[in-house]
Amino acid sequence: MHKFTIAIDGPAAAGKTTNSKAIAERFGIQYIDTGAIYRTISLAAIRAGKILLPADQSEITQEWLDTLKIEIQNQDNEQRMILNEEDVSDFLRTERISMAASDCSALSIVRKHLLKIQRDLAESKSSIMEGRDIGTVVLPDATVKIFLTASPESRTIRRLLQLGLPHSEYHSMLSSINKRDKQDMNRKEAPLRKAKDAILIDSTDMTLQEVQDTIFSIVINKIGI
Ligand code: C5P
Repeated sequence: MHKFTIAIDGPAAAGKTTNSKAIAERFGIQYIDTGAIYRTISLAAIRAGKILLPADQSEITQEWLDTLKIEIQNQDNEQRMILNEEDVSDFLRTERISMAASDCSALSIVRKHLLKIQRDLAESKSSIMEGRDIGTVVLPDATVKIFLTASPESRTIRRLLQLGLPHSEYHSMLSSINKRDKQDMNRKEAPLRKAKDAILIDSTDMTLQEVQDTIFSIVINKIGI
């Protein structure tokens, strides 16, 4: 099989991670979650007491970014994020870090810094890479591009289930997801949008299995195996 790349973009909690991991396993290819890299930088910024917003007052500098040692390790099919030798993966999934990652990812200095890291990761191996700008910016020549979305309401319910949170959190989770999407879609640098040649999958009324089967057949058709 020739090397191929799959780009999966879409709004928060659209199921990109679960589906990308399953597809990676079915094809035996590398899985890369780029959101986790933005989350790691945000955690480092919060720990360092850096101001992320507004962008023109951000305290994030190239010198500071250069001091961060960020590594990605794969353990038992899980992507682990290592920041300055510490495995920080278990600290990255809070709503505070989600919002901070969205703030941080609007900064062009951060996006530029991460662009090469992401491209290098997909350089040597067949990969499925998920994020917001993979099909539009990071891998514009990806073999297959998918834009995976679902209604904000169903994404909110999925995220609550995933985090084991009660239904009483529904409204605050919905507004946090809507705020993050709005910010990600309206930023100047690499905003979240469907690449012209991406295939749209609206998973609102689909099961996980249906989404995976749909992506799987799109890839099989494209790479011809
Ligand atoms: O995918 P995830 O929700 O973990 O991403 C966290 C945040 O990182 C997103 O809300 C988005 O602002 C940012 N991000 C991005 N570009 C990517 C991946 C994530 O801007 N390729």
